[in-house]
Amino acid sequence: MEEKESLHFIEQIVEEDLAAGKNDKRVHTRFPPEPNGYLHVGHAMSICLNFGLAQKYGGKTNLRFDDTNPATEETEFVESIMNDVKWLGFEWAGEPKFASDYFDQLYAHAVDLIKQGKAYVDDSSAEEVAEMKGTPTVPGTESPYRNRSVEENLRLFEGMKNGEFEDGSKVLRAKIDMANPNMHLRDPFLYRIKRVPHHRTGDKWNIYPMYDMAHGYSDSIEGITHSICTLEFEVHRPLYDWLIDQVEVFHPQQIEFARLNVSYMITSKRKLKQLVEQGFVAGWDDPRMPTISGMRRRGYPAAALRAFCDRAGISKRERLNELSMLEFFVRQDLNKTTTRVMGVLDPVKVVITNYPEDQTEDLEVINNPEDELAGSRKVPFSRELYIEREDFKEEANRKYFRMAPGRTVRLKGAYIVHCEGCVKNEAGEITEIHCTYYPDSRSGSDTSGIKAKGTLHWVSIEHALTAEARIYDTLFTDPQPTNHEDKDFLEFYNENSLKVLDKIYVEPYLAEAKVGERFQFMRKAYFCVDPDSAPGHMVFNQTITLKDGWKGKK
Ligand code: ATP
Ligand code: MG
Repeated sequence: MEEKESLHFIEQIVEEDLAAGKNDKRVHTRFPPEPNGYLHVGHAMSICLNFGLAQKYGGKTNLRFDDTNPATEETEFVESIMNDVKWLGFEWAGEPKFASDYFDQLYAHAVDLIKQGKAYVDDSSAEEVAEMKGTPTVPGTESPYRNRSVEENLRLFEGMKNGEFEDGSKVLRAKIDMANPNMHLRDPFLYRIKRVPHHRTGDKWNIYPMYDMAHGYSDSIEGITHSICTLEFEVHRPLYDWLIDQVEVFHPQQIEFARLNVSYMITSKRKLKQLVEQGFVAGWDDPRMPTISGMRRRGYPAAALRAFCDRAGISKRERLNELSMLEFFVRQDLNKTTTRVMGVLDPVKVVITNYPEDQTEDLEVINNPEDELAGSRKVPFSRELYIEREDFKEEANRKYFRMAPGRTVRLKGAYIVHCEGCVKNEAGEITEIHCTYYPDSRSGSDTSGIKAKGTLHWVSIEHALTAEARIYDTLFTDPQPTNHEDKDFLEFYNENSLKVLDKIYVEPYLAEAKVGERFQFMRKAYFCVDPDSAPGHMVFNQTITLKDGWKGKK
């Protein structure tokens, strides 16, 4: 790896704060997901940033669920989010936190704002509010309810809380400035009525705080020093600061950075949900999904995802990162960490005609040439084998180093064989390839003096396990499927994003493989054991091919 570049702008801010002794030299960040879906690659970036800063500067990071919208939040999402953060290799401070834990305190702050004359209950309909809002260049108009007395506001707000009013019939608004050029300061909503039970607070509340109301005060309650969010919240910052300034509480600093974008991936939970609900994928953790759980199931190592986020970097300007860069880190990691095994995806039978019929040899094959400590294993060899159909040609030119009549090749970890010819069925398909082997050419003790240019992988038919392989391509045919004004992103769904090979053959060593374990199928690709695997029916996800195929493609 190359050297670490200079500090990014958020690290600079943190270092300046530390040097100035701000916040008693504490660094406390948070990762604040809304539990309304599974985390995606963009969240991985935010996690690496928030937890990474705390690690670097001896601080802490809270995991806080922003569960202020009772209608869309589910416990399933809470569980998956915790699982994903842990898998990425991070540990949050103390128990997971929930914005809903602070509902009493948020309510008290709202009452405080009302008492100061800085918030009011508005009975206007949604249409009236929209009409009064103005535009960025045209000032808004004040609501007729804006000058209600403190007493009336207190009474109405309590009534809202107690469920006396219909959903949507009233809201609590901050009283700031209907002419402010920043639309977020034009008397923003603080609370709305939703007579809906909440996944944690049950039916205690009939009102729920809006994002801006909940977020800054939650940061403050937790003593967050650096509240990091994506750029779209930059325009919310004056409101974030205004709300905190009105009450006597700790004031965290909001800092914005550009969202992570990756080609062929989408980073909108709403759209990912659409893919799940409309059956384009098998679930949130479908290995084609840009979710953390999808990438994990696909076989992407957490370390590769962290390395990618680090390289993509923190900036103030949005840009598109190439999927091939993420894949580079995945390959780099898997190359170092995976056991090399043999698996034949598209089999054709080979008979070694001079090999004894009832003989089996256990050949020693090293597990990973990149890792001295990985050891070796035994692979059974016998008279009948499978090789890849694409590794044989009846007629081949001089540059072809695989198997063809009259040619010699080495069978990986085994012997050099000489190809004699093949047998075909009535349809002209090759059903069997015949070879003879050189008994003194065994790998490791080869005294034959014969040179073989190519090396092929194989499995012994008698010993092979059958398995299913799922081969993936990008989920979309366009690198930025959500960037077309005239087309819905679903129009770019890649119909060929999943190909199932229902009968591949792998060496018997893989019978012991566990769900989530990753392997390199020599000469083919990296594979990961899928949770759909059952005894006697292994399922492998193709994580990624051995070589970058993009250059040829584009
Ligand atoms: P979505 O649009 O997918 O719903 P979100 O921002 O609404 O995303 P949250 O659950 O609120 O989802 O996000 C939690 C944190 O992750 C926030 O701090 C948010 O800024 C950050 N985040 C979300 N998407 C990205 C991204 N693409 N790149 C970096 N950070 C992101
Ligand atoms: Mg959000």
